[in-house]
Amino acid sequence: MGGIKLEHISQHFGEQMALRDVSLTVNDGEFFSLLGPSGCGKSTLLNIIGGFLDPTKGMVYIGDRNVTSLPPYQRKTGMVFQSYALFPHLTVFDNVAYGLKVQKRKKAEMKQRVMESLSLVQLESYANRMPHQLSGGQQQRVAIARALAIQPSVLLLDEPLSNLDAKLRKNMQTELRNIQRNVGITTILVTHDQEEALSLSDRIGILGEGRIQQIGTPLEVYRQPNNRFVAEFIGQVNLFEAEYDEANSTLIVPHLIQSNGQHVQLKTTARKEKGENLKYLLMLRPERITVSSKREDAHPNHVTGVLAEVNYIGHSLRLVVRLDRGGIIVHASDAAFPKLPKVGETIHINWQPEDVVFLDSKVHT
Ligand code: ATP
Repeated sequence: MGGIKLEHISQHFGEQMALRDVSLTVNDGEFFSLLGPSGCGKSTLLNIIGGFLDPTKGMVYIGDRNVTSLPPYQRKTGMVFQSYALFPHLTVFDNVAYGLKVQKRKKAEMKQRVMESLSLVQLESYANRMPHQLSGGQQQRVAIARALAIQPSVLLLDEPLSNLDAKLRKNMQTELRNIQRNVGITTILVTHDQEEALSLSDRIGILGEGRIQQIGTPLEVYRQPNNRFVAEFIGQVNLFEAEYDEANSTLIVPHLIQSNGQHVQLKTTARKEKGENLKYLLMLRPERITVSSKREDAHPNHVTGVLAEVNYIGHSLRLVVRLDRGGIIVHASDAAFPKLPKVGETIHINWQPEDVVFLDSKVHT
């Protein structure tokens, strides 16, 4: 087994820079996700690790071997693609045996390895079936068994669940995590699905415009994003550009004005550096906001507005609270509303000072 280390990887396609100076370390046995929007360079980076693409610059290490100039089959990586890429004319057994045949393994060893791999994905009894006789989820499990059969040091997964429907996808996520834990293999998952990355990963690397924007545990990247890009990409967010009001020793949000004509003031417990004309970018997650039945002027952060949107999504309600200028998104639990609120109703919301998080893009004006 072994970890993965990338040093200063850049990739140009003609004029276009798909990756810019990406460095990261994935620990031995870790489940690491590369998360980012379409076109940010995730697959390019995975292909560089797998040896399917030579980086324009930089080094790739697997374990303590520099594999930068090695072809894919000498890197000991197992790769699973979005499209499964099973051979349609081969049985499940022969699909899983494929890599071992290429390695010219003895028959007995091959049989043992194939059956062990099929057992990991709970498909031992499907060995003689053809791919078209399997469901999408089962085909994807065969693809995972095929990647594991060669006993790779690392497993590379390129959006392997994105062809599956929502329910199957959830089940497969759990299975994938269990298989990875059982085998203890270092794994990199490429995904654009934030929930998938948050629920499966030990750590997540967020890519944006070819750069690593942040690396952290799911909790770190969700609760303390580095910048606006990460905050907006993972989950929904209220972003406040706030200014320090020296006279009242408080932060005000110029773009949010209440019906009484006052700017929304923010009470926070987060660090802030006082200074003249300093602007701050602050974040408040919608689910940190609570709805109250009456004005609570004594509350440190209280705002009254009018409901501009009500979206019922089962376990929760997504509300947009409109102020005289600007608005705030609120995610409230279904349990908080015996009956659905209506657009146009007055609504009182509040949040705790510790739920206001400073982002790093502090701008000096
Ligand atoms: P998606 O989630 O849509 O698959 P991604 O994050 O995996 O996107 P990449 O496939 O890595 O993105 O592509 C990154 C950028 O590099 C894109 O702008 C893409 O158009 C470009 N690109 C990728 N492969 C090539 C290539 N072979 N030739 C030219 N440009 C490429």
